[in-house]
Amino acid sequence: MANKKFYVTTAIDYVNAEPHIGHAYQKIIADAISRWHKQKGEKVWFLTGTDEHGKKIAISAENAGKKPKEFVDSISKKFKEAWDKLDIGYDKFIRTTDKEHEKFVQDFVKKVEKDIYKGEYEGYYCTRCEAYYTEKDLDNGCCPYHKTKIEKIKEETYFFKLSKYQDKLLRLYKEHPEFVLPKERRNEIVNRVKEGLQDLSITRTNFSWGIGFPLDKKHVVYVWFDALLNYLSGANGNWPADLHLLGKDNGWFHAVIWPAMLLSAGYKLPKTVFIHGFLTFNGEKISKSLGNVISPNYLVEKYGVDSVRYFVLRNFVFGEDGDFSEKVLVERYNNELANKLGNLVSRVATLIEKNGIEKIQNKLIKKLKLKEIEEDFDNYEFDKALNEIFAFIDICNEYVQSKKPWETKDKKVLYELKESILKIAELLYPFIPSTSEKITKQFSVKNIEKGEILFRKIE
Ligand SMILES: [Zn+2]
Repeated sequence: MANKKFYVTTAIDYVNAEPHIGHAYQKIIADAISRWHKQKGEKVWFLTGTDEHGKKIAISAENAGKKPKEFVDSISKKFKEAWDKLDIGYDKFIRTTDKEHEKFVQDFVKKVEKDIYKGEYEGYYCTRCEAYYTEKDLDNGCCPYHKTKIEKIKEETYFFKLSKYQDKLLRLYKEHPEFVLPKERRNEIVNRVKEGLQDLSITRTNFSWGIGFPLDKKHVVYVWFDALLNYLSGANGNWPADLHLLGKDNGWFHAVIWPAMLLSAGYKLPKTVFIHGFLTFNGEKISKSLGNVISPNYLVEKYGVDSVRYFVLRNFVFGEDGDFSEKVLVERYNNELANKLGNLVSRVATLIEKNGIEKIQNKLIKKLKLKEIEEDFDNYEFDKALNEIFAFIDICNEYVQSKKPWETKDKKVLYELKESILKIAELLYPFIPSTSEKITKQFSVKNIEKGEILFRKIE
């Protein structure tokens, strides 16, 4: 029997600025999900990458005194390096300037030609969002996300008949409620779609940094129409996606425009579009003005890769907004990683080094709530899953306290603890893979030794 497949994607990041912890948050979640499914023996495809066309990038490149391609090459590389530092084990890193992707987009346009017509767009466009807005969307005449003044544009364009898909989309949300998660975000989307859909302008003419529109050489493809297609062009035979992860500013594109594009071209639809909230950093909105402190590289160097990963997976209810507080990170690091996990591993290894083990049936492990942990993971409740794992770590620490193996030299108790620690390491693998691997290596050998300290306390 062929292995079950699982295809997960992240948003591809727009390369007008360098990676920050907000970008990293979503990649860490995707990586944990990917590792979880790989661990279950599924055939996983984990796609991430960078979104590299559009007017905003052309402007950023010009400001940096670089040609657009040279500019996107340099920033895309920084995203890749950041993900390597965070142990993001993607299977493919796609760039929308890849030749195969560009060809795919042009072929796709021809596939949906029946739903494309020429017209004139008159309305609002936020270059920072690279998104069109109606009068109603605006916040005091400003972009609803950037709160900056928005330009009114009027230009010849090609439209995609999005309006045609209103009923089909409403039926989709009704028949497959899991298509948009969490539920609150689905309700917002459904209400907006019920109000009616406007056809989408899918080409631009006043700049050239984009994929040539195959039906008219004067036009380039609208950057979102181009970017969304990365999930197909980078699927490597794994389409349909099981899970698209994206931030709340991208909900409309993924939950409305994307399925309409796929329906038009006759592709299967992805199973779930999961829309999550944003992080602040020490209570402040993440922006360039915070400087280097929000860079994933800086945070990994300061706290260690697994501390950053553990914190974002443990501290936030996935889906909601949250604050990346360094103070809370240090508290969790000291209390949970150093005191609970680190202590258990080092105490038990030391005791085994001195006394050895003797095999018996492991009764201790029956207190592990494995089924709950699996359910939490499948419900995207990573904080709850970690909470359960750490509840078992507490049980193991209490077991050491009550059985006093340093007095009794009880090799059977130490065997139970060893097996339990190996199971904990296995369960922690999706969250903190390098720590998990260290523990597994330390406890899998015949002669277990004390080993290095996993987490030194931060003063
Ligand atoms: Zn904007």
